[in-house]
Amino acid sequence: MEVSTLDTAEKASKAPALNGKPKIAYFSMEIGLDKQIPTYSGGLGILAGDTLKSCADLNVPIVGITLLSENGYFYQKIDEEGNQIELPINFNINDFLTLLPSKTNVMIEDRAVSIRIWHYLVKGISGYIVPVFFLDTNLEENNESDREITKYLYGGDEKYRLAQEIVLGIGGVRAIRSLGYKTIDKYHMNEGHAALGTLELFRELKNIEKVREQCVFTTHTPVAAGHDQFDLSFAQPMLGDMLPDPVLDNVTFENKLNMTRLALFFSHYVNGVAKKHGEVSRSMFPGYSIDSITNGVHTPTWVSEPFQRLFDKHMTGWRSDPYILRATFSIEKREVWAAHMEAKKTLIDFVNNRYKVGMNYDHFTIGFARRQTAYKRPDLLISDPERLKHIAEKTGPIQIIYAGKAHPKDGSGKETIKKIFDSMKAINGKIKIAYIHNYDMTIGKMMTSGVDLWLNTPRRPREASGTSGMKAAHNGVPQFSTLDGWWLEGCVENITGWAIGPEKTEEEESDDEIDRNDLYNKLENWIMPKFYNDRDNWIRTMRSCIAINASFFNTNRMIQQYVLNAYFM
Ligand SMILES: *Cc1c(COP(=O)(O)O)cnc(C)c1O
Repeated sequence: MEVSTLDTAEKASKAPALNGKPKIAYFSMEIGLDKQIPTYSGGLGILAGDTLKSCADLNVPIVGITLLSENGYFYQKIDEEGNQIELPINFNINDFLTLLPSKTNVMIEDRAVSIRIWHYLVKGISGYIVPVFFLDTNLEENNESDREITKYLYGGDEKYRLAQEIVLGIGGVRAIRSLGYKTIDKYHMNEGHAALGTLELFRELKNIEKVREQCVFTTHTPVAAGHDQFDLSFAQPMLGDMLPDPVLDNVTFENKLNMTRLALFFSHYVNGVAKKHGEVSRSMFPGYSIDSITNGVHTPTWVSEPFQRLFDKHMTGWRSDPYILRATFSIEKREVWAAHMEAKKTLIDFVNNRYKVGMNYDHFTIGFARRQTAYKRPDLLISDPERLKHIAEKTGPIQIIYAGKAHPKDGSGKETIKKIFDSMKAINGKIKIAYIHNYDMTIGKMMTSGVDLWLNTPRRPREASGTSGMKAAHNGVPQFSTLDGWWLEGCVENITGWAIGPEKTEEEESDDEIDRNDLYNKLENWIMPKFYNDRDNWIRTMRSCIAINASFFNTNRMIQQYVLNAYFM
């Protein structure tokens, strides 16, 4: 199955568009552009890739900067007991990226670390090109450990992470200089990982206000542990005179260099990634003006082939202008259903071939795929097997498809995978369950387009936005989720999907017991009866997902908001 909308991961024969006049540099620790370039781990990277694809489609003058991460994140295998096994990824860089002649360097402690630059060209719908630069320290002139800095995405210890962020932030700004760009005057930090770039701009401009005029910062997590901070005991020696005293006091907190505070201090525009996340961020960082721009997904990338054909037939121009998807209401229900069944068949065939679970095309299928971590409660659905079996007996058969990696150091995330495997053994037979290994863009697309219901169960208010439910909406798949992140904006009860647990206005923290009950109640009394006994209405809901949510929760709308609110105002 194709995820890429680009003709290829094509090797450019020409130099990047240095003669163009890009105005914005977009920094992200990970950028997920293509299924074959494994330099992303999940939501943040895919958002970055989707953002740059929409920029290319809309002729937004931007360049992307990221790390090469030549060993990717990791390839996930899972054994019979549910233990995650992390294998290295072999990624042949030369097949996808082109090495440029320019080089630059950064100081780490007292060593000069050389950086070379690869590039990839994102080609937009009308041929406009957005270059993406991958920074790489694996050069002979560097010492052994410095050669590893751009190897492992989210690997290593705190010093390793800080070294990566020096390369991304400071090295990234220097890379732009060495490539000869003269017109860039906006630096967008996608999460705090790139915040050190502000220090390089400050070194150049020697004026805090001038740096602020050029910086834009998007924060991505309402969880305190998600904000990078580094003990000054090693951060100061590693950064040397890049971290001058007038800045230091403003960006340290409890004797730590805090990357979020650094980015906040130097940015004239800051945003969270959903309305609610903006509110949460304002209360986490009082005193800063924090706006919100709700995330999206790149429409042509995430619409399955059957729906692409359907949209092409009825809504010319939807690729470059996803607002056109509003017109989905006028497509006949049987055509929508036929497209869905084709996408569903692709998924069910894949699962049956690989895992021999004997799933049925006509049975109600629930999908859950995301980073496996405790707050997302992946086991909530199967936490009461008896209840679930009862619902299936009463209303109709249920199939469940899981996927998701746990971070190699997230012990509780790995435990949840094991728990799911244990429950699978307890439930299997009555309810067919499969866990697809190695969740990536390909699996993500196949799942979000191939299931009947997309489930999401984060504990409020921990989900900044979430984007997989938007991919589902693009394929007419309704979401069933706690009211957190984007779902507070996207959920129209019984029309685009369903909410789990307390209403929008009710108390913040999720209660597992309340949510579990609500989840089972709605499945039993609303969702499954509608699917099995009121198919016409079910398909109306599918159309609403596309018309109401896909037309809005896409990166074309999102980047238009960034252009108006953050870049050029
Ligand atoms: C879309 C996607 C994500 C992000 O989805 P969430 O809803 O934020 O969890 C993560 N990983 C992959 C492979 C994806 O395709």
